[in-house]
Amino acid sequence: RAKSLGRARYHLFDPDMHKQAIELLDLENDLRRAVERQEFIIYYQPIVRLSTGKIAGFEALVRWQHPTRGLILPTDFIPAAEEMGLIYPINTWIFKTVCQQLHIWQQDCRFPTNITISVNLSARLFSNHNLISIIDNIIYQTEVNPANIELEITESVIMENNDTVKNMLQQLKQRNFKLVIDDFGTGYSSLSYLHSFPLNSLKIDKSFVKIMQENQENMGLVPAMIGISHSMGMQAIAEGIETPEQLAQLRSLNCDLGQGYFFSKPIQHELIPQFLYTDFCW
Ligand code: C2E
Ligand code: MG
Ligand code: MG
Ligand code: MG
Repeated sequence: RAKSLGRARYHLFDPDMHKQAIELLDLENDLRRAVERQEFIIYYQPIVRLSTGKIAGFEALVRWQHPTRGLILPTDFIPAAEEMGLIYPINTWIFKTVCQQLHIWQQDCRFPTNITISVNLSARLFSNHNLISIIDNIIYQTEVNPANIELEITESVIMENNDTVKNMLQQLKQRNFKLVIDDFGTGYSSLSYLHSFPLNSLKIDKSFVKIMQENQENMGLVPAMIGISHSMGMQAIAEGIETPEQLAQLRSLNCDLGQGYFFSKPIQHELIPQFLYTDFCW
């Protein structure tokens, strides 16, 4: 017993573990402070209609402006925020900030009325029964039209297979929000199941766009996913378009919309107006 205690004590003071524990504690404290002080900033990445080359909308992508560590990307703190129960305040702040920004843009007569802003909603949000009333409140306060907002959810949300989630999505649909499945192809949703949700678009994950031209086998996946979208009456969006070859291929496959570094990296809101009438004409 003494021996195992000794070992336990040794582990407790293992310098590596100690360092990890401190880092985790730092992250948690830092994230709590970040929520209080609103250290987040939204970047916007253009989404282009591939048949015309015109901007159809922007995806809002959060970054954390850490006071000492600089700009932190969402993959480096969103999962932690989800674990720590902080995703709710963070994601509602993002949604509100995006709505406020959209309202400002819509006051400007040069801003096309049909432009949409896409917001990512963490799957965790759907376990809060107040989600719809919080969204309603923000829409009421900011006076934006939900028809100009696309909500991106992952396949895991609809795989929950519960009536509460289905009901929430139907309520969002009734309010005229557009619903998009993000990272399509990386989850495990069954097609018959997808069909029973009120979805507008499937966003093909960038990993499939990346491998599209590698070999014949990979080549088949993207057209199949575009076909699934169209046969269900949805639009297909391709993310992660980086090369003119990928763009040409996706256009020839009648993919409706595209997003990626080829058009633009995510940019700060100040740069949006000059982007609005950029024509990626071909
Ligand atoms: P996502 O929603 O699938 O967003 C697409 C990611 O791909 C973004 O990374 C974007 O910057 C990146 N990307 C866009 N074009 C290209 C390209 O041509 N090549 C490559 N290699 N990457 C490209 P980002 O901004 O780091 O966001 C990563 C993920 O973090 C997002 O994936 C989303 O799941 C999550 N996220 C971002 N913002 C939010 C948010 O506001 N709320 C929540 N809950 N999650 C968010
Ligand atoms: Mg997204
Ligand atoms: Mg995505
Ligand atoms: Mg993705």
